[in-house]
Amino acid sequence: MSNALKAVTVFCGSRFGTDPAYEQAAVEVGRTLAEQGITLVYGGGRVGLMGTVADAALAAGGEVVGVIPQSLDEREVAHQGLSELHVVETMHERKAIMAERADAFVALPGGMGTLEEIAEQWTWTQLGLHAKRSAFYDIGGFWRPLAELVEFMVERGFLLREHADLVRFGDDFPALLDGLAAPLDPQRKEYDAPTA
Ligand code: AMP
Repeated sequence: MSNALKAVTVFCGSRFGTDPAYEQAAVEVGRTLAEQGITLVYGGGRVGLMGTVADAALAAGGEVVGVIPQSLDEREVAHQGLSELHVVETMHERKAIMAERADAFVALPGGMGTLEEIAEQWTWTQLGLHAKRSAFYDIGGFWRPLAELVEFMVERGFLLREHADLVRFGDDFPALLDGLAAPLDPQRKEYDAPTA
């Protein structure tokens, strides 16, 4: 238990993707969180990488909290073996609980759902709605195109460098976890509405 984080929300695909490395990464993430005594918070389903990360954390004796909207219960098949399962009404409720229950956020490879969820948390840090870090586990260069887009946004003047730097991309999960535990600078620049 070397990490100050108590709980981490993992966003990841409801599919497995085409490279077996993604599933291996999901196993590593679930197991590492459990081994470090960090609660896994996730979307509550059994499908795709979501199910893999939960099963790996449970197999290693970890605490796992799932949050699933009623409407997705059938498609994503709520996991019945979790430490806690919250079946909620709406996607908004799901995301609010997943934000509140964690000290930090990690994205594994995934689709638009994954991207939307981690991007929302990143922007909430930017806006000063919370002071929690996010990281992209960049297995096989999966998130490289996004990292490049982020740099392009900075270069073109739409994203502040300090907001880009709130988030890390990396392929070493224990190192990413260590980075997520570092408190944010209390003097950091939060969102300044541009003047008209
Ligand atoms: P995906 O990355 O598209 O496989 O989706 C991963 C997870 O994100 C799934 O559990 C979806 O239920 C969830 N998801 C999909 N669309 C959204 C959305 N618009 N907002 C929040 N979560 C979503």
